[in-house]
Amino acid sequence: MSFQPNSPAARDVAYVLHPYTNARAHEENGPMIITKGDGVYVYDDGGKQYLEAMAGLWCASLGFNENRLVKAATKQLETLPYYHTFAHKAHLPGIDLAEKLINLAPVPMSKVFFAGSGSEANDTAMKLVWYYNNARGRHAKKKMISRIKGYHGVTIASASLTGTPVNHPGFDLPIAGVKHTSNPHYYRFGQSGESEVDFATRMAQDLETMILEEGPETVAAFIAEPIMGAGGVIVPPETYFEKIQAVLKKYDVLMIADEVICGFGRTGEFWGSQTVGIKPDILTCAKALSSSYLPISAVMISEDVYQPIADQSQDLGVLGHGYTYTAHPVCAAVALETLKIYEEDNILDHVRAVSPLFQERLHALSEHELVGETRGRGLMGALEIVADKGTRASYDPKVGAGAKAGAAATEHGLIVRAIGDSIAFTPPLIITESQINELFDKMTKALDDAA
Ligand code: PLP
Repeated sequence: MSFQPNSPAARDVAYVLHPYTNARAHEENGPMIITKGDGVYVYDDGGKQYLEAMAGLWCASLGFNENRLVKAATKQLETLPYYHTFAHKAHLPGIDLAEKLINLAPVPMSKVFFAGSGSEANDTAMKLVWYYNNARGRHAKKKMISRIKGYHGVTIASASLTGTPVNHPGFDLPIAGVKHTSNPHYYRFGQSGESEVDFATRMAQDLETMILEEGPETVAAFIAEPIMGAGGVIVPPETYFEKIQAVLKKYDVLMIADEVICGFGRTGEFWGSQTVGIKPDILTCAKALSSSYLPISAVMISEDVYQPIADQSQDLGVLGHGYTYTAHPVCAAVALETLKIYEEDNILDHVRAVSPLFQERLHALSEHELVGETRGRGLMGALEIVADKGTRASYDPKVGAGAKAGAAATEHGLIVRAIGDSIAFTPPLIITESQINELFDKMTKALDDAA
């Protein structure tokens, strides 16, 4: 395709290297330029409206024009636009936000460390786990276990934890000491005649086998999303986390809950950990923490994790970790206002009120000739496209069948996320029932087009 000289599309192709984009296809097709947002909708540069059924990247929980967040940012920018928290410095938005998060935590937590993104939060969690075990004199206990298709970010450490197909090839990842255990997707990996509960038992046995093969004295932590997001919205089978955590406890392995997508009401509880029964030692969160209006993430650690870390920082002089933007005051002020809106507008009650319709309309799509499985919780869901419902065969195991239906959805004014054979939906938490109907009416048309 040729672009108008000096147009935004031409300049984008000329200058921008896009994340998660086929660079050659981009040179050919150019960008989709989004110019403004309004509630659950965004608009492109031609004025076309789209229902944003992914809240951007699973994150803009309050939609695309929450003016209270603009005001909170402006007020903080006018008061103290920047300050850091190194070397005993502090500021009120950082203190207030840490206190708020500790009060909201799903299990007793002791301290909060702030970062800028989900990747940085998970990177930090991994470093803190290493620091913690060094402090306890357990220098060999450093290995991390995550899951095939788990998603934890893209820094060198967090991309190593990530287990989705495109994040390792070409990058010489994962780094040594990061292992990936089985994916708990019952529809895909459950064996014939195996119940969901038996499947969960087998998943926990796989984890135990891995820990024993590696040597329990070398395994430090296990990280998991309560419901896997970017791996295709995989809801864990019944009893899964109960059994996984029993194994972790047996071998003194820490549990890290990656709440970057599931946190703040997405699954119908405030934390995904509450939905699936995780009791984390460390919890990471980001995205809906600030409704993504500004970048901020957090790592919460338990008292048992904190104490050795504090001792080690004393022995070494300081905790040698921190970002220029750790607890950025403007981001923290926006996060505080976001949490205030969740409370004042009863967002969790709203999610609980509208999610039955969301799940009902989602599951109704399993009647469609293309759809093999639908799955979800709260305002989080996905459908899986299959070539044959009986054999569950994929149309194209290499590329995945979601892209065609995803492109058809875009034509109908609906933005979804195609993940291999799956299509994911995580709309802003403020979505109304009529907008949920609009979402699934459009998706049905898109599936008809793709059939
Ligand atoms: N963890 C999970 C569960 C995520 O879904 C993501 C991003 O989608 C990340 C971590 C990484 O977050 P970020 O893209 O902010 O680095």
